[in-house]
Amino acid sequence: MEQVDVVVVGAGAAGVGVGVALKHAGIEDLLLLDRHGVGASFDRWPKEMRFITPSFATNSIGMLDINSVAIGTSPAFTLEVEHPTGQEFAKYLRGVSTFYELPVRSGIDVKSVEAKGDRFLLTTSKGEVSAKFVVWAAGEFLYPQTAPFVGAEHCVHNALVDSWETMTGSEAVVIGGYESGVDAAIHLARRGAEVIVLDRNEDPAWESESSDPSVALSTYTMERLLDPAIADKIMLEGGADVVEVRENGQGFEVVCRSGDVFRTAQPPVLATGFHGSVTLVRDLFEAREDGLPLLSEQDESTVTPGLFLCGPTVRHDNHVFCFIFKFRQRFAVVAKTIAGRLGLDAEDLEVYRQWGMYLDDLSCCGEQCAC
Ligand SMILES: Cc1cc2nc3c(=O)[nH]c(=O)nc-3n(C[C@H](O)[C@H](O)[C@H](O)COP(=O)(O)OP(=O)(O)OC[C@H]3O[C@@H](n4cnc5c(N)ncnc54)[C@H](O)[C@@H]3O)c2cc1C
Repeated sequence: MEQVDVVVVGAGAAGVGVGVALKHAGIEDLLLLDRHGVGASFDRWPKEMRFITPSFATNSIGMLDINSVAIGTSPAFTLEVEHPTGQEFAKYLRGVSTFYELPVRSGIDVKSVEAKGDRFLLTTSKGEVSAKFVVWAAGEFLYPQTAPFVGAEHCVHNALVDSWETMTGSEAVVIGGYESGVDAAIHLARRGAEVIVLDRNEDPAWESESSDPSVALSTYTMERLLDPAIADKIMLEGGADVVEVRENGQGFEVVCRSGDVFRTAQPPVLATGFHGSVTLVRDLFEAREDGLPLLSEQDESTVTPGLFLCGPTVRHDNHVFCFIFKFRQRFAVVAKTIAGRLGLDAEDLEVYRQWGMYLDDLSCCGEQCAC
């Protein structure tokens, strides 16, 4: 059986980013295993969907491009676009992976991870691997929540849409009013459809006063919503908690808890999120009150030493690390911890601090924040 120091599961934004940090920490006995290949989730985004976070080549002044996963790299510089598509961003990730010579193995599906003594046994589609440390970075996008209520099988999840061109109806219902749902509505409206977006929250993202883009809609999306060419084609309905979708022969009925019913001829769009890949390793973590993995200050499992989590599922208190510019802050913390346990001094990681990234703490803007 193959034995290595560190296995990173997943070669998306988190896997590639933490892989580079592990290399900067001096770790060479490393493997990145990916079910498909580098950037596979981004390659599967609907083709019209673009990053909401803008890229800008700020590196020359010591500030990392907001969508960068590795110090010194910039999607804006590489791709020459401000809001990359998923396919474009996947190209950037492949460039980073090649430049840093990350040891990625594609086409390897990790089926399970077991703690065995002071090592981990990973069972994969291509045999077993033993590792001293595992970094779980398998993301959320390939694990959509496709059954949030009765009749959800009549809907199409936005993560499974290749292109909004395939939805040709003159009206549409979108369930879920955060970024993915509103993005779907914008593209459907641009194609000429009258769109209703339903969100269960009384205080939905489009009305939120929060300065946190993990809660409120991004400026990029708000600007697009206000475009006069589509503004009157999109109806936003908060407090609409969908409990069932029925097929009635001519189309679909979307039934809300309030008793309101919305009708549409084409399958409603589900933009209700993801259950995420952590379902595969849930038993190896304690759960927080919200059900997500409880992590130490080094993003390690509190019950399975040596197992770390990287990516959008990371939470600390009420901090949600769901964007790249948030979860990349944790890469060097994880790399430094693993390097320390392997007896490496990882002094090259000090440069991460100069790029504004965390190295050994949970810092945020704290009291200086005017948010
Ligand atoms: C619709 C959408 C839009 C977003 N827009 C933005 C944005 O504009 N800006 C921003 O900063 N963030 C955005 N995000 C958030 C963030 O960028 C993504 O969540 C990002 O893809 C997370 O990176 P990741 O590496 O954790 O997961 P992924 O990119 O999903 O990578 C996970 C990798 O793991 C592999 N994998 C999965 N399971 C296994 C397994 N069992 N075995 C082996 N390999 C496996 C997959 O093939 C994949 O390559 C968006 C997220 C979504 C869903």
